[in-house]
Amino acid sequence: MRFIPIAAAGAAGVLGLAACAYNEDLGRSQFLLVNDAALAQSAQQAWAQTLATSKVSNDRAAQARVQRVAARLVEAAGLGDRSWEYVVFEDPQANAFVLPGGKIGVNTGMLSVVENDDQLAAVIGHELAHSVANHAGERYSQTAATQLALGIGQSALGGRVGAETAKQISAFGGVGAQLGVLLPFSRRHELEADRLGVDFMARAGYRPAEAVKLWRNMQAASTGGRPPQLLSTHPSEATRIAELERYIAGMPARPR
Ligand SMILES: [Zn+2]
Repeated sequence: MRFIPIAAAGAAGVLGLAACAYNEDLGRSQFLLVNDAALAQSAQQAWAQTLATSKVSNDRAAQARVQRVAARLVEAAGLGDRSWEYVVFEDPQANAFVLPGGKIGVNTGMLSVVENDDQLAAVIGHELAHSVANHAGERYSQTAATQLALGIGQSALGGRVGAETAKQISAFGGVGAQLGVLLPFSRRHELEADRLGVDFMARAGYRPAEAVKLWRNMQAASTGGRPPQLLSTHPSEATRIAELERYIAGMPARPR
């Protein structure tokens, strides 16, 4: 039973860091248990692992294209104050991902789905949006809080579970955080990233309507085979296309 006070103290410590931070880009508050630095450190490990275990494309033109489009979006979105790294991976899966700390990966399979730079900008804008919106931190915090709540509930039942809880809490800074940064985003996060992503596109002078075409292409690419990973963890294509069309229709017209 002596583990219970340790678990409880640990829990209080972790929860003491909890904050509801207002995110201006999203226009809503977020529940955050983890700061950017801690998350970026875990993400750095995950990124190093990805670079070590995946094949980086040696297609220089593809790497340069992603760099160019991403840099233009980053500049337009006012995100040039932090460092970003963009890498094209040799992988037929039509997918892209972002990790906290400014790491963006785009698969060659995704590059074969996009028809133009505007659509590539839609992909990268979406990933940038996840980052700006701190979705990974929010996802991690929600998961950690749930695990913590479950652990505390169990620890009241016996000392052995209490020890387990203590271990779980100490793992939050390491493996837990790594899992946190790699968890798929929720439906709400996906739709938020879609909207913020097209804002970035528009600011950079890309055509937001191409985002809708991109998702239609993804939808087409997914019929007949396994759905692309990006879609399987994402809201239904029909939902996101409809939401995106509605949002773009409401956007102020921009001189081009
Ligand atoms: Zn996403």
